[in-house]
Amino acid sequence: MFKKILIANRGEIALRVVRAAREMGIGTVAVHSTADSDAMHVRMADESVCIGPPPSPQSYLSIPAIISACEITGAEAIHPGYGFLSENAGFVQVVEDHDLTFIGPTAEHIRVMGDKITAKETMRNLGVPCVPGSEGGVETLEDAKRIGEEIGYPVIIKATAGGGGRGMKVAKNAGEMEKAFHTARAEGKSNFGNDEVYIEKYLTTPRHIEIQVFGDGKGRAVHLGERDCSLQRRHQKVFEEAPGPAISPEERAAIGKTCAEAVARINYIGAGTIEFLYENGEFYFIEMNTRLQVEHPVTEAIFGVDLVREQIRVAAGMEMSFQQEDLKINGHAIEVRINAEKLPNFSPCPGRITQYHAPGGLGVRMDSALYDGYSIPPYYDSLIGKLIVHGRDRPEALARLYRALGELIVDGVDTTVPLFHALLAEEAVLSGAYNIHWLEHWLETNLSSS
Ligand code: ADP
Repeated sequence: MFKKILIANRGEIALRVVRAAREMGIGTVAVHSTADSDAMHVRMADESVCIGPPPSPQSYLSIPAIISACEITGAEAIHPGYGFLSENAGFVQVVEDHDLTFIGPTAEHIRVMGDKITAKETMRNLGVPCVPGSEGGVETLEDAKRIGEEIGYPVIIKATAGGGGRGMKVAKNAGEMEKAFHTARAEGKSNFGNDEVYIEKYLTTPRHIEIQVFGDGKGRAVHLGERDCSLQRRHQKVFEEAPGPAISPEERAAIGKTCAEAVARINYIGAGTIEFLYENGEFYFIEMNTRLQVEHPVTEAIFGVDLVREQIRVAAGMEMSFQQEDLKINGHAIEVRINAEKLPNFSPCPGRITQYHAPGGLGVRMDSALYDGYSIPPYYDSLIGKLIVHGRDRPEALARLYRALGELIVDGVDTTVPLFHALLAEEAVLSGAYNIHWLEHWLETNLSSS
């Protein structure tokens, strides 16, 4: 096992990794920008290294700075968290070239899955069902229009390098194709340096269902059921739960088996998430994330496992500590993402936390790096905490969420907490009868800024 690992991230996820490592008796190195000198992940780690100025390209995304931090401290492995360098195949290559271990999949798997076109091709060949659409990339507007006619409108044009809900445009009819096609290409180019796009049938009432998989890199893999992340704003998740309220045990077993077999066949190592849209009883693959997800705690809650610990184990060459038959679902879990954002526009709201109190009690987990007097810097994303609740069933988890939200105090900045209070009064949320478009409609009707 490693003696010391470096965490190439910040905020709640850096803290999450420190916690797992400490329980395993592994030393931790935090890295931070000058804007994060007082951050909780820096305080909690055994050692810390300042790797640059506030803008992430010069610090959290600076590969030379991170590798130097490993060399200075003698860390043997790097946990990337999510975001930043977690899905950067070039980074993984550099890590390996320096005889360090990347706690995550291989550069090759990241490369294949990071390009949505090759990801889809690979998954289709592995027997995973996909959304109907173009075979590979679409280069000209004429081709795009022809494909639109073939698969039938509405369609969605997606940047193959896209992520975080960016680089996707919907065309409801042929008239909207030109603008959607050019905008998706331009967004792909400016955000991800790649203007290749492909086209998919736009599903009108799907749920977002993702399967957690885990491989040992030696041809063995398991699945840990699904998460339903259908409540989204601008294609970004805000509320996630497991198990999915619309998925039957038979459906779970079948799609889970397909996914576990697919990743076993490619000798996948570590945690991964295979994302699907689910409509009328059918699953359609959209993408695979080759890292730990923000919403992994709901899976941990219902299966009673520590996914970060497992990641570290397999990266060190050890066996997974569970097999498929050990994984049994216990109860229901829900996570809400608490962002420092001002409603109704969700504009970022950095600033000083004058008072912070985390909820507690049975079945409540608060993953956050906040503390009294902390100043949220303006340079990074606005996620400041994740509140995760676990109950014996969905009604108990919902009641617990309501209770825990009432205990949470975050003073000094605006947060998305009022959104969750409002959502917990909605019949669709209480009954689980929502799809990926439900929240957008609800926000337009209930929170419109105009
Ligand atoms: P990203 O990599 O940016 O997260 P995804 O491909 O995972 O992009 O899609 C994010 C979200 O966009 C999905 O959860 C869903 O809400 C929406 N979406 C993606 N593809 C489709 C589609 N074919 N039809 C309808 N909605 C879609």
